[in-house]
Amino acid sequence: MTSSNQSVELLAPLSGLFVPLETVPDPVFAQKMVGDGVSIDPTSNTLLAPAAGTITQVTATSHALTLTTEQGLQVLLHIGLDTVMLKGEGFRMLVAEGQKVAAGQALVEFDDQIISARGKSTLTEMVIANGDLVTSMTPARGFAHAGKTVALTVNLVATAAQANAAAVADSALSDLIVIPNPTGLHARPAAVLANMAKTFTSDIKLVRNGEESNAKSVVGIMGLEVQHGDEIRVKATGPDAAQAIKALAELIRSGCGEECGAPASAAAAQAVATPRPAPKPQSTDPNTLLGVSASPGLAVGQIFQVRQEVIEVREAGDDAQLERRRLDEALKEARTQLETLKGEISDANKAEIFAAHQELLADPELLDLAISGISGGKSAPFAWRAAFTAYAEKLARLKNEVLAGRANDIRDVGRRVLRLLTGVKEAALQVPENAILIAEDLTPSDTASLDRNRVLGFCTTGGGATSHVAILARSLNIPAICGIEEAALQLVDGTTVILDGTRGSLRKNPSDVEVQGIRDRQATMAARRAEELAAAELPAVTTDGVHIEVVANIGGLTDAQVSVKLGGEGVGLLRSEFLYLERTNAPDEAEQTAIYSDIAKALGTERTLVVRTLDVGGDKPLPYLPMPAEENPFLGVRGIRLCLAAPEMFRTQIRAILRAAPYSKLHIMFPMIASLEEVREAKQMVAEEKAALGVSADVKVGIMVEVPSTAVMSEIFAREVDFFSIGTNDLTQYTLAMDRGHPKLARQADALHPGVLRLIAMTVKGAHAHGKWVGVCGGIASDPLAVPVLLGIGVDELSVSVPAIPAIKAMVRKMNKADCVKLASEVLQMGTVAEVRARLTKLAE
Ligand code: PEP
Ligand code: MG
Repeated sequence: MTSSNQSVELLAPLSGLFVPLETVPDPVFAQKMVGDGVSIDPTSNTLLAPAAGTITQVTATSHALTLTTEQGLQVLLHIGLDTVMLKGEGFRMLVAEGQKVAAGQALVEFDDQIISARGKSTLTEMVIANGDLVTSMTPARGFAHAGKTVALTVNLVATAAQANAAAVADSALSDLIVIPNPTGLHARPAAVLANMAKTFTSDIKLVRNGEESNAKSVVGIMGLEVQHGDEIRVKATGPDAAQAIKALAELIRSGCGEECGAPASAAAAQAVATPRPAPKPQSTDPNTLLGVSASPGLAVGQIFQVRQEVIEVREAGDDAQLERRRLDEALKEARTQLETLKGEISDANKAEIFAAHQELLADPELLDLAISGISGGKSAPFAWRAAFTAYAEKLARLKNEVLAGRANDIRDVGRRVLRLLTGVKEAALQVPENAILIAEDLTPSDTASLDRNRVLGFCTTGGGATSHVAILARSLNIPAICGIEEAALQLVDGTTVILDGTRGSLRKNPSDVEVQGIRDRQATMAARRAEELAAAELPAVTTDGVHIEVVANIGGLTDAQVSVKLGGEGVGLLRSEFLYLERTNAPDEAEQTAIYSDIAKALGTERTLVVRTLDVGGDKPLPYLPMPAEENPFLGVRGIRLCLAAPEMFRTQIRAILRAAPYSKLHIMFPMIASLEEVREAKQMVAEEKAALGVSADVKVGIMVEVPSTAVMSEIFAREVDFFSIGTNDLTQYTLAMDRGHPKLARQADALHPGVLRLIAMTVKGAHAHGKWVGVCGGIASDPLAVPVLLGIGVDELSVSVPAIPAIKAMVRKMNKADCVKLASEVLQMGTVAEVRARLTKLAE
């Protein structure tokens, strides 16, 4: 770039053909709403700096950035049209906000094939956002050579400072927008909205009835509790205010990625009920306190009341910059702590709760609140405490129970940072043995660090079955009750109680006979468990000499390690989704390679590792892969269908899996297979990536049988795949046409239905005809009642939940395969689940 006092020359950021901005097929650019400049139809795919300057803004989705030149010109570089929707897929940002760059320095790499495959144009715009600084500009024509050709000659009028002041003063307000989303701006549309808002430099607010919230903050948007039919406005202040208003208003009107049906009206709004907390159960028996079941199980123990320590903070701050630095350091350290905590939790899905805490630490509204406190002369701990407390209270007041429940997460992460700021060490709870904890609320961090040797269960007066504490309690396998009657807080420490997590009841003053009855049951179960554990290493061979592989269903590395300790003979199902969920961009190849390889190494070359490729979509959306909301997500673009529709993401995963081949007996498995074409296409990709990587290991490729058509046609599929694993959870829902999560159908959606058992039998028959093995990895494999019939049908492998491994192995060792075959042929002739269950229960007695 060359410049004089009056003019600046900006170099072409890409090679390609210059295109006049007016002809760009996007009115935002063609009508110069963002500013004037030039567009390039690119032939290169590394965006270069058109001038020396500072990167003053990068979008979270990496498709655009702003470079401010030494003269104060704000040059917005926008790769492609509508590419914000790709949520970062296909883009690699090479610079960070605040970084100084030289002219010609590489800024962003992008994959034009991904952009085109997703139906977007790669036409790239370079525009001046603060046009007030400019008297005139001359865009180039013809061919551009990246970093060499002058793309734009800009004549300046004023100093940057003057122009910037003018730009900042730009502000705009949208018309009233009626919210079309049936359940308002809940977490998912709020995330879509905040992500788009973050692509603009302007300060952006949502306004409802005079109340405002930061549109770049997910929690801020949720906190406004915008309901279906509510009228809101978008307000923006800054250089791209007009463009922001236009784009965001359109996004909100279209439902922020949700399918919303007919436009909302106030009347329709009244018809949609906000999820409200269920009334708290109340006991009529003075010796029993009731709550909501948060985690099942029984425990007899003594009450231990937990009260939260008060952290003292100084109100007045030192120099604001110093306080700000303290806050930044504490936030950084908290992020590291959470990273460690995530690694310590065996269930990776639960570890994601702490990933969400990490995101809260970056929430712009929360940070703004804290920083404005510091600017107002407060100390960092004082400002931070005020910010997160106000924020948590705001959420706790929401009528929506799930959103209100997130207040506890904010308090938890808030206190973590506060302890770091004040140097107050987390006082480890001095819990006596056999303790049943009672608290108003336990934070997810408290719950994750409970001493399992001393704590037998817990009850909280706050929270509900959907709270993160409840989810953690279930993953720790510890009985728990949430929302228990307040009277629990008055129970004296040391009082003996029976906690029934399954029923959600806490029984005071139990009789000796009652306590003894429960202790006896627990002792028998513990003795049996000890025997099973002692024999866990022995293979699962039936009394007539048939070896059944008992392997694990896992969700991450810790599960793999524990499964080996419990005698697991391998992994029959690695649910790889845990790597993809609850994050804003797809995991890259290196990250995936590391985790698959670590898991394979934990198993070793003698054990099997079956990695299931990504199984999400529909009901489990990925924020960085926009998919239209579906009316029937379980029948929509999920599992293999989604992967084949996003081939680059799929190939990245395949390569990462293949790189783990040297460390264990690697198997790749595709979920939700419904047709042979899907298998062929996916297998072709594996073969191509394998050849490209030069992997010579014999990597087996198999499919999940979850769709009835696949079970029926297993003999045909068996010609083209190496193995099958039957996902009975999905196979049952698709066979019986009953949603697997439907509360009212839970008892009927039974995998022991004779129809499902017959499909399992068909699968085995078809597979064995071609010498292929069949596993079962659905929940039924861990059910002791079902094991004899599965063996009798001829299943070769049972992939079970990690804690169930020793018990299932012990069970197989007691069985006779020939007897099981007879049992299976009898059961397959039955007409109802009730008959099947009665027969199997009799056998178990
Ligand atoms: C199944 O459907 O049985 C299965 C194992 O897959 P998931 O539960 O992960 O859908
Ligand atoms: Mg499934």
